[in-house]
Amino acid sequence: MIPVNEPLLNGNEKKYLNECIDTGWISSEGPFIKQFEERFAARVGRKFGIAVMNGSVAIDASIVALGIGKGDEVIMPTFTIISCAAAIVRAGAVPVVVDADPQTWNMDVTKIEALITPRTKAIMVVHIYGLPVDMDPVLAIAAKHGLKVIEDAAEMHGQTYNGKPCGSFGDISTFSFYPNKHITTGEGGMIVTDDEKLAERCRSLRNLCFLPYKRFVHEELGWNFRMTNIQAALGLAQLERLDEFVARKRAMGALYRQHLSGIPALQLQPGSTSYAENIFWVFGMVLNESVGYDAEEAMKRLAAKQIGTRPFFFPMHEQPVFRKMGLFQGTSCPVAERIARRGFYVPSGMALTTDQITTVASTVKELFA
Ligand SMILES: *Cc1c(COP(=O)(O)O)cnc(C)c1O
Repeated sequence: MIPVNEPLLNGNEKKYLNECIDTGWISSEGPFIKQFEERFAARVGRKFGIAVMNGSVAIDASIVALGIGKGDEVIMPTFTIISCAAAIVRAGAVPVVVDADPQTWNMDVTKIEALITPRTKAIMVVHIYGLPVDMDPVLAIAAKHGLKVIEDAAEMHGQTYNGKPCGSFGDISTFSFYPNKHITTGEGGMIVTDDEKLAERCRSLRNLCFLPYKRFVHEELGWNFRMTNIQAALGLAQLERLDEFVARKRAMGALYRQHLSGIPALQLQPGSTSYAENIFWVFGMVLNESVGYDAEEAMKRLAAKQIGTRPFFFPMHEQPVFRKMGLFQGTSCPVAERIARRGFYVPSGMALTTDQITTVASTVKELFA
């Protein structure tokens, strides 16, 4: 079976991990945390980095740090992971969703402004699968209406929008270091911002909101979202290779595209747009209606031929958990509904070889060409 993801850990990972063991620094107090925070923040052009347990809690802390809560609305894409909407709902606010663009699969930025109400507090952008959201229109709308911008850059390490690093847009940005991301810490995440007060809020929220001058006394509730020195050791070693990793993923994407573009049954994400060159977090495809079955059946057929796959995101407005809460009544997002059912991605991990890509591509071709 060709796995859908396998990370590449053959740099300084072992050396730095051994340092954790040899020195006994294994908790969140170790020296690698600060180094990882500083280097990662600098890499994406931010002043402050706050390392956390994973990319999902990075969003939770960011929403609360921005003061988003009861009665507020946040505009976000429907085509994304549950973490984005869950953070908004848990904070007591209401997610308002935007459909996807049929070509890039990112949020359709032309649909944002019509959704703004007096309760709208923020826009959450989520860059999808390797191409950034078209940020200029989003930032213009946010400035015009006085809205905060939260940028979920979990899939965008090393990507740029018009030459500016993803993760440097808006008031606050978040990353994940799950093993299928461009760099990994096993589990892990990072919040980045240029706002010192927001950074302080996030640090406090990450660490149970201990009062700095009176430990074990709390004026508000936080979480234990701390990253360990062991995770940061991995992160540092991975970060050293980010440029190489992005180049690898781009080469993988180019090779897949060489094999699979021009097949009428398959729609691929563009290799580039006017503002970015795809970094192919994953290599996704959407089946045209000429294929008489959906992604679920396609994935079964590929599994029978030893090819690992994953389905596309399932839209937030169709999630049973949110429908039960009474959210998204009457919401319709036909593009996201379609690509969720007809889209899936093929093996895309950092350790994938050229031979494996050739095997995957020829198997896909056999099925759909
Ligand atoms: C992976 C991912 C997350 C969540 O990160 P975890 O570290 O798995 O919690 C959030 N948003 C997006 C867009 C992601 O791809």
